[in-house]
Amino acid sequence: MSKPVTDLIHHAYVPPAGFAAPQPGVFKASTVIFPNVAALRARNWKNKDGYTYGLHGTPTTFTLEERIATLEGGKHCSLAPSGLAAIANVAMALLKTGDEVLIPDNAYGPNKALADVELRAWGITHQIYDPMNPADLQARIGPNTKLVWLEAPGSVTMEFPDLPELARICRAAGVTSALDNTWGAGLAFCAFDFGDGSGVDLSVHALTKYPSGGGDVLMGSIVTRDDALHLKIKLTHMRVGFGIGANDAEALLRSLPSLALRYRAHDVAARELAQWLQSRPEVAQLLHPAFDGSPGHRHWRALCGQQDAAAGLFSVIFQERYTPAQVDAFCDALTLFKLGYSWGGPVSLVVPYEVPAMRSARLGSWTQKGTLVRFSVGLEAVEDLRADLERALAVLQ
Ligand SMILES: *Cc1c(COP(=O)(O)O)cnc(C)c1O
Repeated sequence: MSKPVTDLIHHAYVPPAGFAAPQPGVFKASTVIFPNVAALRARNWKNKDGYTYGLHGTPTTFTLEERIATLEGGKHCSLAPSGLAAIANVAMALLKTGDEVLIPDNAYGPNKALADVELRAWGITHQIYDPMNPADLQARIGPNTKLVWLEAPGSVTMEFPDLPELARICRAAGVTSALDNTWGAGLAFCAFDFGDGSGVDLSVHALTKYPSGGGDVLMGSIVTRDDALHLKIKLTHMRVGFGIGANDAEALLRSLPSLALRYRAHDVAARELAQWLQSRPEVAQLLHPAFDGSPGHRHWRALCGQQDAAAGLFSVIFQERYTPAQVDAFCDALTLFKLGYSWGGPVSLVVPYEVPAMRSARLGSWTQKGTLVRFSVGLEAVEDLRADLERALAVLQ
């Protein structure tokens, strides 16, 4: 019995050479086997010229890293187990006790919570700035500022900032800038080159959203063109053990070829529904950066107008006469739009938000009345989605 048991584990296997197929093979490993002790001692995980341990990369994760770097116009990519883990990886790599990070008022909420609780406990301070007022960012940069987060458009409220101007301010001050580039997905604009010589140092992307496209994978990436910055990120990545699973990498590699087609389809359907909702008497304001009258529309047009790209997200503010409970009832009445966080998958999603509670009271930059609902448009037939919205709006009568 012992012989077949051992033979089964040590069964000869050589990865196939000369096996060409549209999709790359999937390699799974925690352990990587070395031919001898000298090779084990000589191998350096920091260089991508060899493999040391699953956490530091496999042929599958290296392939995905190269493709995400290509998508975003960067040079290096590091993968993390979620978009939020990628954000945390950046913070942990670049900030230490006594440092300060600046975060936009409309940033992805958990980024602010990370700063408010974890970073604060490590003696790292943060300030919230008004992303629609570059002078406010400029004024808040001080000697301890080591990192500035940018996001375009703002999470939930969809204001599109003047990204080139914000990036120029960071660069002139010698402060590292990191963009949460989940909405742009590497398709709406290039984070490292805004076309006027400006760009950010790091692009963080929740691959959970459009690159996955299935609503079934959590992953994040950190892309840069800067060798030294990449090494810093990578060292922290190794020390905290932010590895990703090979099955998840495989799902991403499978989804990437259709990314641009899906992004465009989400975008076209979202604009059609946004246009329709804007004309409804129940709606006080549409928040969608590609629409005239939406905050920062001209900045969107300057950066993304040529690509005419705008993802599949928008928010609306209902007329003040509707109570939050009535707006909740509208959301509950939807059948195709499901209640759920995240976006980028085939299923349309909706979430009502209490914006004032999410904003800095000190900045007072949110003056809107009325309840906000954020829509993520999936890949269903747009006429079915419109009928769903129309039916649900009837509950407001
Ligand atoms: C979803 C999201 C994240 C976080 O991604 P997870 O993979 O869910 O952790 C970060 N930023 C933005 C803008 C997001 O929408």
